[in-house]
Amino acid sequence: MFDLKDLYQEIIVDHNRSPRNFRKMEDADIKAEGYNPLCGDKLTVYLKLDGDVITDVSFEGEGCAISVASASLMTEELIGKTVEEAEKIFGTFHELVTDRDSPIELDKVGKLGALAGVREFPARVKCATLCWHTLNTALHDQDGKEHATVSTE
Ligand code: ZN
Repeated sequence: MFDLKDLYQEIIVDHNRSPRNFRKMEDADIKAEGYNPLCGDKLTVYLKLDGDVITDVSFEGEGCAISVASASLMTEELIGKTVEEAEKIFGTFHELVTDRDSPIELDKVGKLGALAGVREFPARVKCATLCWHTLNTALHDQDGKEHATVSTE
């Protein structure tokens, strides 16, 4: 029998075990560091932009399974998207993991739906959103700085 929970569990385990785009990007256009003191998750997100289009995203760091899987899924989701689209996905994702009543629309959230379960565990929400907050910082708070830090506390 098809069980959505098992599938989701599998996606998280897989992305934690072999995270996608897990590497330092030497020639990144922008990067930002994120830290979730509640859990100890720490990551750096690297971005390459061509105008408004995200042509490459990678990350490195260490953290719990949720934070690593979430960052891995995020990078897969964002490559080729515009900054505006990325922000929209962040909004949808944020609602998905924080709003217990929001519907899980698979056609909208795709694999990111694997993280919807954290909505039942408020303490883990920051693990799932750390990479996105870090991305957001990278996109908005740079102003020529090549380094930015975000803490989700
Ligand atoms: Zn964590």
